[in-house]
Amino acid sequence: MSPGTTIFEHMSGLARAHGAVNLGQGFPDFGWPQDVIDKAAAALTGAASQYPPMRGIPELRQAVADHYRAHQGLELSADEVIVTSGATEALAAALLALIEPGDEVLLFQPLYDSYLPMVRRAGGVPKLVRLAPPDWKLTAEAIEAAITPKTRLMVFNNPHNPAAVAFDRGQLQLLADACVRHDLIAVSDEVWEHVVFDGRRHVPLMALPGMRERTVKVGSAGKIFSLTGWKVGWLVAAPGLAERVARSHQFLTFTTPPNLQTAAAYGLGKDRGYFDDMRAALQRSRDRLAAGLVEIGYVPLASQGSYFLSVDLPVSGIDADDVSFCERIVREAGVAAIPVSAFYAEDPVRHVVRLCFAKADATLDAGLEGLARAR
Ligand code: PMP
Ligand code: GLN
Repeated sequence: MSPGTTIFEHMSGLARAHGAVNLGQGFPDFGWPQDVIDKAAAALTGAASQYPPMRGIPELRQAVADHYRAHQGLELSADEVIVTSGATEALAAALLALIEPGDEVLLFQPLYDSYLPMVRRAGGVPKLVRLAPPDWKLTAEAIEAAITPKTRLMVFNNPHNPAAVAFDRGQLQLLADACVRHDLIAVSDEVWEHVVFDGRRHVPLMALPGMRERTVKVGSAGKIFSLTGWKVGWLVAAPGLAERVARSHQFLTFTTPPNLQTAAAYGLGKDRGYFDDMRAALQRSRDRLAAGLVEIGYVPLASQGSYFLSVDLPVSGIDADDVSFCERIVREAGVAAIPVSAFYAEDPVRHVVRLCFAKADATLDAGLEGLARAR
C-alpha cells in the first residue's frame, strides 16, 4: 500500500486489479431511488448550473431542518444548516474551524479514516479512547481519563463505522456528561442515522440535555439515498457554531452542485415508507451475509447499523492477522474486505475483518463462495 493512501482506495484498487467481489469499501450495488436520480437529471438540464449560495440552496437547507424535525424530533431552523460536498467536507470544515493549534481533541478508536489526518492538519492533538470488540462499550472512566484542561472538542461517530454499533441513549449520555462537564464541542458524525436495524431508532447526540448548543451534527445524502458517489452532505449546528464552520467551508469547496442539492431536498421529503423499506432491504442483506458466513464456518459479530458486519478471525478458526488475511483473499479468493486494524492509530485490534453487505444477493453469494475458498 503506498504510504498515506486510505485503506478504502487501496482495497478497491486491489479488487479492480484482481477482478474480486468488492465487499470492502462501503457502497451499495442495488436499491437506490430512481425518482431521486430523475430529479437530479431534470435539474441538471432544466435549471441554471451556476454557483448556488455558499451555505446551500434554501430548499435543501429547509428540507434538512424539516427532515430532522419529522424523523428525530429536533427543532432546527434552515439557518442552522450548511450544505457541504459530502460528510467528509462537513467534517473537514468543522475540524479546521473549531480546532486551534495545540487544542486536544478526543477521538474514539476505531476511527473513520479522515478524522485523525484532519485533526492533525488543524493543529489539534489527538487523545484516543479505545473501543474493542465484541461489545465496543464506552465507559465514563475511559472518557474522563483522556480529557485534560486543554481538551476542546470531541469527534464521535454514531451509528459507528466499522463497529456497526448504534449507541443507545445511555452510552451517549456518557459523552454528553463529559461535554457539559468540560465545556467541549461535539462533532457528531451521524451519516448512518437511517441505517439502523431490528427496530432501533437513531438518537442524535444533539437531543441530549445540554448538547443542543454545543453539537455539530453531520449527515450525508450519499448514505440516505444509497448514492455514495454524489458527495452531498450537510452539518447542522446552533447559529454561533454554524457561523464559525461556514467560514472554513467557504474556502474549502464554497458550494456543491445545485442539481444534486435539488434532488437531495426532494428525497429528504419522501414519506416514512421509503426509509423503512431501505432499512428493511439492508437488514435482509445483513441477514443473508451473516447466515452465509455461519454456514461456511465464520463467526460474525453483531451489526446494529451501517452497511457493515465483521468477522472474528481466531474465533472462526483462522490463524492470520486481519491485514494478511485481506491481502491474501483479494488475490487468491477473489473477495475484497477491510482489515479493522486500519481504523486504529495505536494498539490496533488485529483479528477482525469488515465486510460490506449493502449488495445484491448475487454479489453476496459470489462473495461467500470466495470466502468459502479462502478457508
Ligand atoms: N463518516 C463516516 C462514518 C462514513 O462511514 C462515511 C462514508 N462511508 C463518511 C463519513 C463520508 O461520507 P460522504 O461520502 O458523504 O463524504
Ligand atoms: N465510508 C466508506 C467505507 O467505510 C468509504 C468512503 C471512502 O472510500 N472514502 O467503506
